[in-house]
Amino acid sequence: MARYTGLNCRICRRETMKLYLKGDRCYSDKCAVERRNFPPGQHGQNRGKLSDYGLQLREKQKIKRMYGLMEKQFKTYFKEADRQKGVTGTNFLVLLERRLDNTVYRLGFASSRDQARQLVRHNHFLVNGRKVNIPSYLLRPGDRVSVRENCRNVAVINEALEAVPRRGVPAWLELDKANFEGIFKTMPTREEMNLPVQEQLVVEFYSK
Ligand code: SF4
Repeated sequence: MARYTGLNCRICRRETMKLYLKGDRCYSDKCAVERRNFPPGQHGQNRGKLSDYGLQLREKQKIKRMYGLMEKQFKTYFKEADRQKGVTGTNFLVLLERRLDNTVYRLGFASSRDQARQLVRHNHFLVNGRKVNIPSYLLRPGDRVSVRENCRNVAVINEALEAVPRRGVPAWLELDKANFEGIFKTMPTREEMNLPVQEQLVVEFYSK
């Protein structure tokens, strides 16, 4: 299936929650969810109650869209999480959070995951001093992510960094803003991830 190229705000409205797909706009009163918090389309406001399957499907779609992944890739993460020891749902979210593009976004080097993915693909980052341009690269505790020296004046990176005080940096990461560097300190816990999702519904969806 091809990547979604439609309006990002429409995705948020479909899930009736803010997925923070558009950077600064998401924190302003221009946010479409703030203005029209109901699903798009002619029957958006008249949709009936969802079945169990419907709830599971919506939760799966919500998480998939939040991280900007396609179905095949998303399912691969689930299979990997299911193979690991521990709680499958938490393992699954940890795998998504370990992605390089997500970490670049979480550290504040990009204002959205989409932008982070593009910056990574365009060779703007180093991991432990080595060039990595694979958005799905999985980080391990102790890994250092830095902006390449000749990319430190890129406007979108500097603009995104200005928003760090408002967005904050999660507990499992550490940002050294002055040196354009961040550390992936430890694997995140479920509480630290503080995501407004019910991953158990995704586990139920894929366990059928
Ligand atoms: Fe979603 Fe951001 Fe658009 Fe609001 S502004 S609807 S959070 S993408």
